Amino acid sequence: MTPTAKLLCMITLVACSNTAFSGGPLVIQGAAGNTPVKYQNPAITVNVEAGDLGTTSNTDANMLLQEALDLWNNVSTSALNMSVDTTAITTDIDENNFTTVLPGVNGGAQNNNDNLNPVIYDSNGAIIDAFFGNGASDNTLGFAASFFSIGGDFFSEGFAVINGRDLGITNTDFILLITHEIGHFTGLDHSQININNQENISGLPFICLSTMASNYPVMYPFICRDSSSLHLDDEISLSSLYPAADIDNNLGILQGNLVNLAGDAILGANVFAVKTTTGEAVSSVSDYLLQDTGFYKLYLPAGNYKLHANSINTLFNGGSSIGPYADTILSESFTTPHPITETIYQDAVTNDDAIITIVSNQTVAFNFVLDVTVNEVDNTNNTDTGGSGGGSNKILGAPSFITLLLLLGLLATTRRLFFCSAKQARLL
Ligand SMILES: [Zn+2]
Repeated sequence: MTPTAKLLCMITLVACSNTAFSGGPLVIQGAAGNTPVKYQNPAITVNVEAGDLGTTSNTDANMLLQEALDLWNNVSTSALNMSVDTTAITTDIDENNFTTVLPGVNGGAQNNNDNLNPVIYDSNGAIIDAFFGNGASDNTLGFAASFFSIGGDFFSEGFAVINGRDLGITNTDFILLITHEIGHFTGLDHSQININNQENISGLPFICLSTMASNYPVMYPFICRDSSSLHLDDEISLSSLYPAADIDNNLGILQGNLVNLAGDAILGANVFAVKTTTGEAVSSVSDYLLQDTGFYKLYLPAGNYKLHANSINTLFNGGSSIGPYADTILSESFTTPHPITETIYQDAVTNDDAIITIVSNQTVAFNFVLDVTVNEVDNTNNTDTGGSGGGSNKILGAPSFITLLLLLGLLATTRRLFFCSAKQARLL
């Protein structure tokens, strides 16, 4: 593939004061403010419009869309099942009639409860330009979002708009980007897992540095993956939000609180388990449920793991954020005690990396105690886990566009085409 300097998706964030964007789930609401928002019925039908996707026929576009949906549908530990209906929207939706099915361009919320879940093929990019400004379709692949209400548990419906202009990307990247957007549509946030938490060279931000493209999840803020498949971390994120009825027969749970020596919660850190035999990794963000406890929870396939923690990459704020504490560069994920150098949970007896055995249908629970003054793990291994507590009420800041500008300038120098997607949820 030829690296090109194109921003494939607009970074936007519809900010509202009670919205939390969390590791794993994208929106935390519910009566107590600690519930990951999802679709109540995991069988979700999206209705595609009748027109073509630029030079791609409607039929062929529907096949690409179905391929992206099937990546999520095929996760055996999740109940999600998304399907495409071509009969409800019988017209070609374009810049002249999109207001009949899509929300308002300025965050307005019309058409938010007509059960359409429209997928719109924006053949000439004019709808994307209408939402994000003239020229946006030069570098925006598409965007997707779902509607929720303050205190609610469920999305009412969602929508996706896909750019039909020829932006010079391969079918694989196209499917990965649609898959990423559909991930946000279903309620998934970005994730970082075991990627170097400060991917840079000489202080400049570079991304997709890992030698193994397969190490990057689809829900990484940038498309660094190079095959149209999900990473284990993607599968677990989806399964956590839409668990199959028999999920406990096939996965175990590792959970606890990430705390400092005084027992205080460490907020917004990347906590991830790495399987010792395969290197497969699954991540969570500490305190992703906004309980002020540092709570993390990982569904894991049976096996032996090491538990790691580090900080979120400082590039990943604003529309690229990971977890509920990364809205701006001044948010908790990027301020003291962060940055936390990657640290592995230690065994109290051997003083070496602890090997944690996960068995299906069992929960392993302990607190991960970090001496953040020296960035070392404390050997305390207690079994106090979970925790309740009031919901936080984080105010979202404006997305950081400084990062974006930096990345735009660097794109031509990186080895792969990648890109960030719009991460949205919309208030009803
Ligand atoms: Zn995204």
